[in-house]
Amino acid sequence: MEAIVENPGYCPCCRSATTFRAEDPWLRDAYVCLGCGSIPRQRHLQAVLDQFFPAWEHLVLHESSPSNDFLANRCMHYSSSQYLPGVALGSHHHGVRCESIEELTFADESIDIFVSQDVLEHVFHPERAIREIARVLRPGGAHVFTVPVHPGLASTVRRAVLRDGEIEHLHPEEYHGSPVGDHRALVTFDYGRDFPAQVSAWADGASVEVIHTLDRSRGLEAEHLEVYVVRKPLGRSTSATPGQGGIWRPSDPRSVVEGRSTARVSLERLQTPGKSRRDEGAIVGFGDGPSVRAICESAPRHRVVHIDPTHTGTATADSALPPGITRVPAVLPTPLGAGTASLVVSGDAFQHLTSADQEKWAAEIARLLGSDGVLTLEAAGDSRPAVEAAWGRVGLSVVEWVPPHVLSRQAFVVLRARRPRLRSALEAGVPRARRLAGRAKAAVAQRIRGA
Ligand SMILES: [Zn+2]
Repeated sequence: MEAIVENPGYCPCCRSATTFRAEDPWLRDAYVCLGCGSIPRQRHLQAVLDQFFPAWEHLVLHESSPSNDFLANRCMHYSSSQYLPGVALGSHHHGVRCESIEELTFADESIDIFVSQDVLEHVFHPERAIREIARVLRPGGAHVFTVPVHPGLASTVRRAVLRDGEIEHLHPEEYHGSPVGDHRALVTFDYGRDFPAQVSAWADGASVEVIHTLDRSRGLEAEHLEVYVVRKPLGRSTSATPGQGGIWRPSDPRSVVEGRSTARVSLERLQTPGKSRRDEGAIVGFGDGPSVRAICESAPRHRVVHIDPTHTGTATADSALPPGITRVPAVLPTPLGAGTASLVVSGDAFQHLTSADQEKWAAEIARLLGSDGVLTLEAAGDSRPAVEAAWGRVGLSVVEWVPPHVLSRQAFVVLRARRPRLRSALEAGVPRARRLAGRAKAAVAQRIRGA
């Protein structure tokens, strides 16, 4: 068949150079990656995850009614579910978890990212679905989804309603393909231009971002290609009890989920190629950002030490750090031995110090890390030369510079302490060794003479 579109490019799903080709003008289903078979909305969803949640592969991600395993193959904490009529909600049937998106069985605040692709146009109560997803998301978490929205339609049209368990069709029946059951799903809504406003209203005023992209180099061109990102706002955790300790409340304008990403990715950097996970050194949380708090729950086997140089108050019954962490006072030098830390996680705390304090604390962090230790921090996206120069002075080199996060505009930076060069250290030691040996010889000779 003749190609309508054919171009080379890079596929966000298989992350490979590829050719995109469509043999039908309905690009939404026809414009495929010849490498992995992905279609535009799948590529766009994954591109948005990469851009908005650079560490999504390490987050707790649930996908409702997946029809492919692109996300499953990459995400470490992935789960999925399908709606299976007649199967108890929350139970498994032939290894597939049954969930209704309108009545989820997940605990409150247990999921970082909830993904659905072309699901919301098939439910009878989308407002319940949006509310349920908001319930199970952690603060700062997001529902990332695709749904066909018709730009020619000013307001949403309901196609079918459920009355006493019976489907009543308000318009001629229309079906889309479905991965389960009889492989067809009834369309219940034709969403119009009022859709984003409706979603925001259902989600109690949450932010709704609609991402449009046209980029043939990534195979991103099709009808209804928008990806929606609905963020659960930050704020006091719904399960928190005021006045009681141990409440993890975001004290930071940035999201807890971002902090969790930083924590997870930081811990990963502890692994040295060819070695098993390094458990020996302490993890030092520097500052009091969400990443420092999150790292404690991500690294239960490590000794975690907390230093907050921005905390000038006397009481360190501060904030909401979880128990089990050794807090040390923010004095220089800290009461920790040189080379005792394998990882220092700073989040963006370091940036909030004055430049004089930055210099002092950089030297202290370098001392704690010893050789080959890792520091992760956030830095303004355009500050790389300054960061490299400042840390270079204390013997740390930038080994990774992950581009700025969309929301915080911060780059995630990994620095590694340089191993002292053994050879030059030995060479430096030679004159001293010679001197000592010479002195010893002289002493012996003197003793002999004196004897
Ligand atoms: Zn592909």
